[in-house]
Amino acid sequence: MTRPVPQSIARTPRGHVEIVWSDGLRAEYSPRLLRDACPCATCRETRAKTAPPPLLPVLAPAELVPLAVAVMRPVGQYAYGIEFSDGHASGIYTLDYLHELGGAPGQGPAGGGRA
Ligand SMILES: [Zn+2]
Repeated sequence: MTRPVPQSIARTPRGHVEIVWSDGLRAEYSPRLLRDACPCATCRETRAKTAPPPLLPVLAPAELVPLAVAVMRPVGQYAYGIEFSDGHASGIYTLDYLHELGGAPGQGPAGGGRA
């Protein structure tokens, strides 16, 4: 079984990341989707916390500007490190993980124009 690999990676006019995969999947990833799915230990811990915040959340300055993908660089053969405009850059996204994110049901209105 061959694992799908990106054939092309591009930034869309909206600032999303579009990956065309070798299995034909064309997936568009918003910066927010990628950021919320960050696989680093810190983010996984944050997401695992179920207790509600004790106080009303206050927007940090970084949250007031639109989130963007600043840098996306290959890490080895099978992963990408993504740096976000909020300075967070510890997430390493494996190709398998990215493919799974892009293939999630309900993603994208134009998905899967059937041939
Ligand atoms: Zn993270």
